[in-house]
Amino acid sequence: MTNVEQTWIRLQTILPNFKLIETNQAKALCPSHDDKSPSLSISKTKHFIQLNCFAGCTYKEIVAATGMKKTDFSNKIETGTKSPKEVCRYNYQDEKGNTICSVVRYKPKQFKRVRSFEGKEIWNWSGIEPPPL
Ligand SMILES: [Zn+2]
Repeated sequence: MTNVEQTWIRLQTILPNFKLIETNQAKALCPSHDDKSPSLSISKTKHFIQLNCFAGCTYKEIVAATGMKKTDFSNKIETGTKSPKEVCRYNYQDEKGNTICSVVRYKPKQFKRVRSFEGKEIWNWSGIEPPPL
């Protein structure tokens, strides 16, 4: 479950008078000021929860009043899962100048071995003897 989904469920138990208007939208008494009629509108998107108090409480104040952290209201942005980018290719060629296999360098630094076989790229060098550069 994502942060947003967990927080959404938790908000239903901690916010007074939490009432769903739509699947991803609700109203509740604002925990950040002395609220008499539900002034807080809460809406959930895929990656974050929006809080809007009609009395003018700021997002920060409302989050603080829930006792939760700002990071609970949005999903972590995964920086480690970015796909590596190819930066260059070192080709090994036979006497005729045909590329038989290559080493591909990626950013973040990573190396992969590739060879072509019948027009396709095969990501290993099994069965071939890399010639000296
Ligand atoms: Zn408020």
